[in-house]
Amino acid sequence: MNRPAAPFLEFRDIVKSYGSVTAVDGVSLAIDPGEFVALVGASGSGKSTLLKTVNRLVVPDNGAVMLEGEDVATLTPHALRRRAGYVFQGIGLFPHMTVAENIGIGPRLAGERPGRERIAELLELVELDAEMGGRMPDALSGGQRQRVGVARALAGEPHLLLMDEPFGALDPITRDSLGERIARLHERLGLTTVMVTHDMAEALLLASRVLVMDSGRIVADETPQALLEGAGGTIAQDLVAVPREQARRLAGLTA
Ligand code: ADP
Ligand code: MG
Repeated sequence: MNRPAAPFLEFRDIVKSYGSVTAVDGVSLAIDPGEFVALVGASGSGKSTLLKTVNRLVVPDNGAVMLEGEDVATLTPHALRRRAGYVFQGIGLFPHMTVAENIGIGPRLAGERPGRERIAELLELVELDAEMGGRMPDALSGGQRQRVGVARALAGEPHLLLMDEPFGALDPITRDSLGERIARLHERLGLTTVMVTHDMAEALLLASRVLVMDSGRIVADETPQALLEGAGGTIAQDLVAVPREQARRLAGLTA
């Protein structure tokens, strides 16, 4: 008899407190390969803390995170960086390094030297010209910088892409086109993606599964379709109501 395959990513009863604040309060869930998961919730609900337990930027007080069947606590920082690409909240590029140096920082920390061709390939993945590798980050637009952040996260050829509010600082049009680019990359590279966002519209449009977080707990775990049909409970539906109401008012303008 075949043993059922382990989930791609699994949170087992994760708890993390800061003093009297319980940022993550007992989260258990499993994510299958190929899922595009959005983690949505109000500011301070624990999204970033939960995401960072995967790559051990946060070490939980209790519980374990399993990645492809292995406890992340047993992986070296190098192995973890390879397996889980991470796009920081905000931009997070080193301002004194070129774009190419920023993209190659993970491999360089591991003692490798990504060549010019590899950097060009990574730039091409995020639809930037190879010429941009020689620029400094402040010579790029916000959207271009964020694409460099994604190229950097993909440099180690990870199976898992973690993104923390990747579009937070961008204007709505750049945000939309970057969102679609990410969704295409997710498909093309066969990634499993976990994206933190406070924007329910973005989650509904991009993800295949939406987790809603409130006060350190997952209070809804639904497909976008199910959420739009009213599932997930009050907190989830209050978040869905925001873009729905906007759409209604916009439709009213043309009626
Ligand atoms: P979100 O990403 O949903 O906005 P966070 O995970 O950043 O939420 O934070 C959850 C809670 O934990 C908040 O109350 C926040 O103030 C607190 N918190 C997060 N990181 C730290 C930290 N390094 N030190 C103290 N408190 C923290
Ligand atoms: Mg956050």
